[in-house]
Amino acid sequence: MSDKDCLQDEQKRAMANERAAELKGRIDAYLEARPQISDGMTQWEEIQKRQKKIKAHLNASDDDWNDWHWQVRSRINKVEDLIELLELNEEEAAEVRKVGEKNRWATTPYYLSLMNPDDPNCPVRRQAIPATEELLNPVGKDDPMGEQYTSPAPAITRRYPDRLIINVTNQCGMYCRHCQRRRNIGEVDRMTAREDLQAALDYVRNHPEIRDVLLTGGDALMLNEEIIDWLLTELDNIPHVEIKRLGSRTLVTMPMRVTDELCAVLEKHSPVYINTHFNNPAEVTPAVAEATRKLTRAGVSLGNQAVLLAGVNDDPHVMKKLNHMLLQVMIRPYYIFHAKAVTGTAHFRTRVEVGIEIMEHLRGQTSGMAIPTFIVNAPEGYGKTPMLPEYLISSGRDKIFIRTWENRVFEYDNRE
Ligand SMILES: *Cc1c(COP(=O)(O)O)cnc(C)c1O
Repeated sequence: MSDKDCLQDEQKRAMANERAAELKGRIDAYLEARPQISDGMTQWEEIQKRQKKIKAHLNASDDDWNDWHWQVRSRINKVEDLIELLELNEEEAAEVRKVGEKNRWATTPYYLSLMNPDDPNCPVRRQAIPATEELLNPVGKDDPMGEQYTSPAPAITRRYPDRLIINVTNQCGMYCRHCQRRRNIGEVDRMTAREDLQAALDYVRNHPEIRDVLLTGGDALMLNEEIIDWLLTELDNIPHVEIKRLGSRTLVTMPMRVTDELCAVLEKHSPVYINTHFNNPAEVTPAVAEATRKLTRAGVSLGNQAVLLAGVNDDPHVMKKLNHMLLQVMIRPYYIFHAKAVTGTAHFRTRVEVGIEIMEHLRGQTSGMAIPTFIVNAPEGYGKTPMLPEYLISSGRDKIFIRTWENRVFEYDNRE
């Protein structure tokens, strides 16, 4: 019997209350920081005002706005529009013009409406509007993961024993400034040719160990419903394919992509998982909530793959708020990727330690559901490698020493 067992009930309750107060103290810093972090829910009224202005500028109706084809067709890619809609000054406009000559950029009108014109460091703007730093290029490579050497068949990337990627298009709703596949974006949007898709499906068919197929690109939801339906049907007809996943950022950049028609298609092909790419709380809006409600009703399970980006989310409080807001709209945080050294993206890179520090601030501090895995992609396509704070301090034959989330060290009996 431990000393604790002899205590009176009141004493136990008093101890529990003391501990509860201590626990609350652990998140005081976050509770203080949280209201300062702008988010798409509390900013919705402001965002809608900007949408009104953008619609007027583009001569668009509400029906246009809510049509994802219109969002794609009307992508903003001219500096003149940014001067008007994002209130760029001369210097900023010149910067975008200069970088734009070399690197393609475009943003959907919807994603533009999430940018705060009064904040030159707006995390949404930083992901979409080119910056001079793109032209400086200290360490980057065009293809740091060597994807060109891990494609055993057309359109396929295979790096793991039981799953692979089919790249179904190079198209995206917007061109992320931090994109790791910038080399594929080029100047032309093209869907992967039907015969290449056929060859990719044949590869899956001929490799019974493949039980999980990811359709990505580019952005898998840039394809129309008919092609998505065809691809998922073909995959459903391969007995060893257990699950299908789609990679898409459209939930972030144009949530109106989630049409009833799309949901009807996805519902037919359960189990379907969608992984999306939110990086900042400013991207989580009521429009996203509506889209995710529809998708979850259609039986689609949602995950998020964030990228750790300097000036966007390289902060434990921002990342915590992002993950909480994602859970509120039924998206489970899945990965945080360390930004690779891709040509033209050096200004987004952080040290790996920044990500580990963020993980340290999540574990124990918040729901396990809100904790993604922090990943460094090994060079040359050798795979996702998890990076964790150290919790196992030392191990002997019969005991180990562990460190808890609060930095308490315990000896732990490790005998069989
Ligand atoms: C990321 C990735 C996958 C999926 O990995 P999970 O850890 O299962 O999400 C599969 N194939 C390739 C080539 C990838 O890069």
